[in-house]
Amino acid sequence: AKERGLGLIEVFDDDASSRSLDRLGLRSDLLGALEGDQFAVHYQPICDLGSGQVVAFEALLRWTHPRRGPVPPDVFIPLAEETGAIVPIGHWVLERSCRELARWGTGGGRRVRVNVNLSPVQLQQPDLAHELLDIVRRSGVDPGDVCLEVTEHSYLRDDVTESAAVLRSAGLHFALDDFGTSYSSLNYLKWFPIDLLKVDRSFVGGVAANDTDRGIVRAVLAIADSLRLGVIAEGVETEEQRSALRGLGCAWGQGNLLSAPLTPDAALDLLAGRHSV
Ligand code: C2E
Ligand code: CA
Ligand code: CA
Ligand code: CA
Repeated sequence: AKERGLGLIEVFDDDASSRSLDRLGLRSDLLGALEGDQFAVHYQPICDLGSGQVVAFEALLRWTHPRRGPVPPDVFIPLAEETGAIVPIGHWVLERSCRELARWGTGGGRRVRVNVNLSPVQLQQPDLAHELLDIVRRSGVDPGDVCLEVTEHSYLRDDVTESAAVLRSAGLHFALDDFGTSYSSLNYLKWFPIDLLKVDRSFVGGVAANDTDRGIVRAVLAIADSLRLGVIAEGVETEEQRSALRGLGCAWGQGNLLSAPLTPDAALDLLAGRHSV
């Protein structure tokens, strides 16, 4: 194995055996990370593309490994899904996010929502709906201010319609994440109670300069319009993208142009107007 300072580098090493050893190490380290207080949740503003006002925050999990430092979610989430650790971790993220949402309500003075990512592995848990509702209700927040972000997975269909229906009827919202990147996202819209589409950043990237990307975003907005769904553009990085999106009629956006993910205190400061996007 090739250690080069930050241990993470070997995760991306070409050498397959060192990569799998690394994954094994990280996977077992994940088990203690919750109890070891190694996780944090950061919150990325979702903004009205016209006014710049924050309408929601997406909760994004952060893991600081005691020896390796920060490990990207794209690396550790799949490991947590393999071991099932994503279930308690996901509950913890929701609990944290609802706690912050309650704090924003009293400290920020302006109503916002919180979006929390839900793994397909969580969706397969038989008691999911009741466990999640318990967490939301205990926190005292309005369930209507909580939006769960799901991704399309064909194998989920039979297991999850019931959980989703229970959560939806309790008032929670659903967003379909990374919209446009999987084979049958359109099919998903037929049976999953979706309220919002998140246009994947691979299309947002070219919305100002590439006719195909612009055409795809226009088509997503048309689908959303006819199904009465909201649309959030992901990964907005430039003014050109923002104005192209506004021109096409996209109401909301998220991305580094607007704000990077923030610590809980920075998110509260932003809402309270102590600094702005
Ligand atoms: P995602 O749900 O698609 O989240 C958006 C990702 O895009 C985040 O990466 C965010 O930091 C990044 N991003 C935001 N603005 C920009 C931008 O302008 N440009 C670019 N290039 N990227 C931007 P992050 O935080 O590294 O998370 C990666 C993925 O990990 C997430 O993708 C999500 O699938 C997963 N994830 C993160 N937190 C959780 C969690 O609590 N539970 C579950 N199940 N998955 C999570
Ligand atoms: Ca997401
Ligand atoms: Ca996404
Ligand atoms: Ca993604």
